[in-house]
Amino acid sequence: MAEKMKVLAITGAKQTEIVEVNRPVPGPEQVLVRIDGTAICTWEQRVYMTGKFKMPFLGGHEVVGHVVELGSKVRTREFKPGDRVALSVINTCGTCYYCRRGEENLCVDSYANLSEDLGMNGPGGFAQYKVLPPSKIWKLRDDLPWVYGTFAEPLACVCNSVKKAGIRLGDDVVVIGGGIMGMFHMMVAKLSGARVIMSEIDESRRKLAEELGCDITFSPKEHDAVAYVRELTDGRGADVVFDTTVLPAVAAQAIDMAGKMGRVVMYSSVIPADPIPLDANALHGNEKVITGSVSPSIQSFDTAVRLLNKGLINPEKLLYGIYPMEKAVEAFEASIRPDTYRVVISFGEDR
Ligand SMILES: [Zn+2]
Ligand SMILES: [Zn+2]
Repeated sequence: MAEKMKVLAITGAKQTEIVEVNRPVPGPEQVLVRIDGTAICTWEQRVYMTGKFKMPFLGGHEVVGHVVELGSKVRTREFKPGDRVALSVINTCGTCYYCRRGEENLCVDSYANLSEDLGMNGPGGFAQYKVLPPSKIWKLRDDLPWVYGTFAEPLACVCNSVKKAGIRLGDDVVVIGGGIMGMFHMMVAKLSGARVIMSEIDESRRKLAEELGCDITFSPKEHDAVAYVRELTDGRGADVVFDTTVLPAVAAQAIDMAGKMGRVVMYSSVIPADPIPLDANALHGNEKVITGSVSPSIQSFDTAVRLLNKGLINPEKLLYGIYPMEKAVEAFEASIRPDTYRVVISFGEDR
């Protein structure tokens, strides 16, 4: 008889269920990982709140675990059974136009057939076990607190975004929004040698940003954000702007606050997806670059794991709490409160 495992599914708006399913068996070129914990990200929060997705939804893409078994043909020297690992669970087909160019985050099959084998939909990290090819698994330093591994994926998304911005030493970088993604953008921009200015309404978030090394913070309620950024940059405007908020009006401001040759990265999805006015002449005359960023490439995942393993990024202050899967509703409710950062659901019993 097949061995079983528990998974945590979302079955409707504000409804979760622990379901027993067959434990996956690794093929010869796959690795079986015992999942220790998985963080709740915006995707899972939205499905939890609205129930809008093909149900049952098996969420979870910010995953840490440890290796149980290598398939017979796995030849990696990077990890062995027992090692703590971070997982990249979103599909990358390896053969599409974008995968071949090393931009796996744009893979045309990213969200195809995720968790189909379990009769569910979604990335499948809210489970006790997962099988993946070795290329989607990164070893974490043995003495790193296990829960830090859940930050590899969100940090990897940010590393991809920061790469697109091409930060130079001494650049003025504006980060709009001080949620977890804003904080990671600030931290990675600081590591890249920038002066970082954060625009954030909430005072406690501004305080945390300063504690984590942000140079200047301000509230866009107290200052005209575009004028204030110009004032702080001797009238030039920012070299780089990362917009981590969802509002179309803020996206327009992000473009306005960039100076000549300024790079603007739309990091967040925009809700509602309303178009914004764009002054084509301002782009023409100032050579501004507007781009977006979504999901991590394999390279940015690798970068994120190195940053965590070497202690160059410490996510401790961005962790709100760890909840066992039996307390999933409490965990989801905590994760959607505006005053919390990451909430992790633990699936392990052998730590
Ligand atoms: Zn995420
Ligand atoms: Zn692909």
